[in-house]
Amino acid sequence: MHRLTLNLTTVALVAGLLACAPSDSATRSAGAAAAPADLMALSQNLASGDVRVVDLSQVLNEQTPVIQLPPPFANTPGYERHLISEFDEKGPGWYWNWFSVGEHTGTHFDAPCHWATGKGLECVDTAEPARFVGPAVVIDVTDEVANNPDFIVTRATIEAWEAEHGRIPPRAWVLMRSGWASRANDAKEFLNVGEDGMAHYPGFGQESAEFLTRERDILGVGTEAIGTDAGIGAAHDPAFPNHAIMHGAGKFGLTNLANLDQLPPVGAVLIAAPLKLERGSGSPVRPIALVPAR
Ligand code: MN
Repeated sequence: MHRLTLNLTTVALVAGLLACAPSDSATRSAGAAAAPADLMALSQNLASGDVRVVDLSQVLNEQTPVIQLPPPFANTPGYERHLISEFDEKGPGWYWNWFSVGEHTGTHFDAPCHWATGKGLECVDTAEPARFVGPAVVIDVTDEVANNPDFIVTRATIEAWEAEHGRIPPRAWVLMRSGWASRANDAKEFLNVGEDGMAHYPGFGQESAEFLTRERDILGVGTEAIGTDAGIGAAHDPAFPNHAIMHGAGKFGLTNLANLDQLPPVGAVLIAAPLKLERGSGSPVRPIALVPAR
């Protein structure tokens, strides 16, 4: 009798699940959760070219510029490649190198633990990988920067963008398109140090960082220049206010980005996964954007 009851219960459960299945998948396709079919469609769209992959990284080599801090602060080394063997007596059948590089060199990822305000928060190894992936929002300030290399994104910049393109979606990467990437192969042009001794390149600042961390839900911000803060942010209080506020709020940074002109203002998905360096404060990264081809 007990066994019969169990069996009837099992039958009822299975019947219930089967009855629920159609409405459950209907809910999923309405956007509540990704069905396996959505990922297969993405794969097929990549193969067909309906979704393009845009490489947002600059090449990493010995010429890659590094940020220059004034004395007494220590500076980072750049990238160096060291040959192990290349089809020679040290390795007749194989080619390989080893390299040395600062965590904050070239196209790279800033983790919250990079900054004093984020001390004790996530480093690259402990950051949740799901937070490396999110919708990309591209704020084009190319014209403003052409007129003013010290341009800093403000609350008004973002609100004007939202008036045209809609509210920044949840878990977004907010990217500043400035045209600065065209200077990335020339350290002098890229750092743009003036007669005042200050570097003059654009970035995010206190106002944008406060707005984005307090009034929007973002993963982090990204720029084409050598840092997420503008060059003149070094002289602000706090120094490098975007770093201080963004990392203090547990958000990420991406710098030295390329090819932002190939992204729509909204509609792309960005994947930026840093190396899993133990206690790494940052890491070279190769961010890629998935972009609808039409
Ligand atoms: Mn950095």
